[in-house]
Amino acid sequence: VAKVVVQGAGVVGLCTAMLLAKDGHDVVVVERDAATEGLTAENAWDSWQRRGVNQFRLPHFFLPRFHQVVSRELPDVLTSITDVGALRSNLVLGIPEGFRGPTRPDDSDFDFSTGRRPVMEFAVASAAERAERVDVRRGSAVSALLTGTEAISDVPHVTGVRTESGEEISADLVVDCTGRRSPLPSLLEDVGARPPHEELDDSGFMYYARHFRSTDGSVPAGIGPALMPLGSITTLTLAADNGTWGVVVVAAAKDRAMLGLRDPDRWSTFVKSLPLIAHWLDGTPIDDGVITMTKLEDRLRDYSPGGSPVATGVVAVGDSWSCSNPTVGRGVSIGTLHALALRDAIRDVGVEPAALNQRFHARTEADVRPWFEWTRRTDRHRLGEMDAAARGDRYDSGDDAWELEQSLAAATMKDPDLLRANLRANMVLQPLEEALGGGLAERALELGAGWRDEPIPAPSRDELVAIAAG
Ligand SMILES: Cc1cc2nc3c(=O)[nH]c(=O)nc-3n(C[C@H](O)[C@H](O)[C@H](O)COP(=O)(O)OP(=O)(O)OC[C@H]3O[C@@H](n4cnc5c(N)ncnc54)[C@H](O)[C@@H]3O)c2cc1C
Repeated sequence: VAKVVVQGAGVVGLCTAMLLAKDGHDVVVVERDAATEGLTAENAWDSWQRRGVNQFRLPHFFLPRFHQVVSRELPDVLTSITDVGALRSNLVLGIPEGFRGPTRPDDSDFDFSTGRRPVMEFAVASAAERAERVDVRRGSAVSALLTGTEAISDVPHVTGVRTESGEEISADLVVDCTGRRSPLPSLLEDVGARPPHEELDDSGFMYYARHFRSTDGSVPAGIGPALMPLGSITTLTLAADNGTWGVVVVAAAKDRAMLGLRDPDRWSTFVKSLPLIAHWLDGTPIDDGVITMTKLEDRLRDYSPGGSPVATGVVAVGDSWSCSNPTVGRGVSIGTLHALALRDAIRDVGVEPAALNQRFHARTEADVRPWFEWTRRTDRHRLGEMDAAARGDRYDSGDDAWELEQSLAAATMKDPDLLRANLRANMVLQPLEEALGGGLAERALELGAGWRDEPIPAPSRDELVAIAAG
């Protein structure tokens, strides 16, 4: 049995804590944001202040992979999620049979449970409160790492944390789950560690989002896909818990012509001009205005560059390790897969410092990094495509893999096998290359060959720019 400190009580930090506690380890979770008195699922949206999570009030979709992990590994979390009124459904069965074909036995893989971020996080936090061997302490940031005898010569060995209030908590392992803005590099620098190897893309996406609620508990019907690339912009329409939903216009962060969308009236006129999603405005807004977030770039920090750890006794999991374009909704699923990789590495070799770092690094590289790499590659192309569309140009990627993905997207509703293969990959259930085995890649290329000529269901770029400018 190991003593573990998890720093950060976001969704991934809490799931990591519960997975390790289930294996018999004693886990203390240290969270910077203070607890909110009298918090309930009903008031979480209005009352829960989470300064530590910038995206807390932005629309989220929790993919089938997250549902699969919690239903298999953390059933109490699934119970909580159901109790708070999460929207539970199935991605394939929600599509008319004429497109998806007859039901298949493994279609249950596409079950999902989703909701607004505060409501879903409340559900996960409630399960963590009930979990044995998990002690969540809110309102105290980790401000320093404690170190002890080195396990590898000249590599600091972390033996616990010190919080802002001066409390010292010793641990066999510290797990950093402090998210996109993780302070781990500077905490490590303070104890003399080498910096991690950082891969950062210099440009990203910008979100312009609003949430709505219906009067009768229903959510709008999806006419097009939830994630819709429309030339220089992308839209997201995300059904959520208790008759709520989110609508997002995503632009390139450097697309200044879209900055006018911060104004609620222009934002509404803009969304109204998009024929496939205009009806998603038919509800009462439940936020104060358009919520924006920028600098949504892709970043990965490798704390064992070349397999040689910058420190032992500490690992980074979830967004602290890698974060990527949130439009595709993979962050929580990739983070939970990463938590499973840590749990399994500890099962393999225990918490012996050098062995654990090596094992966790190997599992991360094999099972988790490919999801980040795929997302980053797609993001670079999508940003290139958005840029080109903003200039009125055509985007030539020169990348066969991207061409295949575009063909697959165009062919998805033409073939039930391709529909499922596309969803398996995009819902983080199966790597794309595997999902497109058995001749499906060739079929996608054939059926989706005309993807470049598909009409874009949106006004022209000039019209969109004019609406955004008011
Ligand atoms: C705009 C946007 C939309 C997104 N949409 C989706 C989506 O639809 N689907 C999806 O799966 N993912 C989505 N994501 C990604 C998802 O939000 C993240 O992957 C997820 O929050 C990562 O969880 P985490 O626990 O690693 O980090 P976080 O949720 O960021 O939690 C980090 C925690 O660490 C705490 N903390 C920070 N510093 C300290 C410290 N020094 N000491 C103690 N605690 C500290 C913070 O207060 C916070 O509670 C989106 C992200 C963004 C930015």
